[in-house]
Amino acid sequence: MPKLDKNSKVIAVTGGSRGIGSAIVKKLASDGWTVACLSRKGQGIEDGSLAQELQSQVINIACDVNSDASLAKAFTLIVEQTGRLDGLVNNAGIHEQEKSHLMKNEMWDAVMSTNARAVFMSCREAYPFLTKQTASVIVNMGSFFDKMGVKNNLAYCASKAAVGAITRCLAVEWANKGVRVMDVAPGYIATELNSDAMQGPLGEFLAKRIPRKTPGTPAEVAAVVAAIVQDEMSFLTGETIYLDGAHAIAH
Ligand code: NDP
Repeated sequence: MPKLDKNSKVIAVTGGSRGIGSAIVKKLASDGWTVACLSRKGQGIEDGSLAQELQSQVINIACDVNSDASLAKAFTLIVEQTGRLDGLVNNAGIHEQEKSHLMKNEMWDAVMSTNARAVFMSCREAYPFLTKQTASVIVNMGSFFDKMGVKNNLAYCASKAAVGAITRCLAVEWANKGVRVMDVAPGYIATELNSDAMQGPLGEFLAKRIPRKTPGTPAEVAAVVAAIVQDEMSFLTGETIYLDGAHAIAH
């Protein structure tokens, strides 16, 4: 168990074990937050890339975002261990592809459950803890697919559009409780998982489609999340921030 700095603010990141989530955990810890890294295994950042000097600021907790009991238990544990919860990043998500006329209900349910229903449940279960602070913040991970028509991505696009809607509704409903709610919607982000595809036809396609020529990095997403969660951003809530290198707006 790390020796936590009791003066630092506390934020939970779902899906913190790898990809974009692990970059967010590392960035927020380096900014001075105490970070709860949530994943199903609860073993922290998988590739061991958390710097030695940040390890005392990160606690690892097992949590399946598809279970509200698991979410409630995780937030309770965080507050037992740190004394507070000031922020939440709902980053965990899955991506499945299928032709729409062939897609089974099971795929729709799985994608909507992890990407949309879990975001609602996580916000709801964190609410009693977040509202104990004068000001707190939730960042939901959306996608620029939320406003696009993407072949074979019906469930994913619908789930990320739902994230935008959940964000707007909660921002309006919880503003007078001091809870800000934001949606960060990345375009293509190069992670370890898609690195092979990025070297091939997908990389060539993106070099033509993205005005800045290259996909984003997890660190670039983490930088936006870290900016949003600052107290100085107190008038910013309910919005979807797209970060896609101008991909979606390019003609
Ligand atoms: P990865 O597949 O690399 O990581 C997904 C993370 O979510 C893992 O940490 C995984 O943890 C966690 N996760 C999945 N299911 C659950 C669950 N039921 N309970 C708890 N944790 C879970 O994804 P990315 O980093 O690529 O994506 C992160 C987010 O960013 C997602 O919401 C995704 O939709 C979004 N996004 C990604 C883009 C990209 O190009 N990569 C672009 C736009 C948005 P574990 O398996 O250890 O439990």
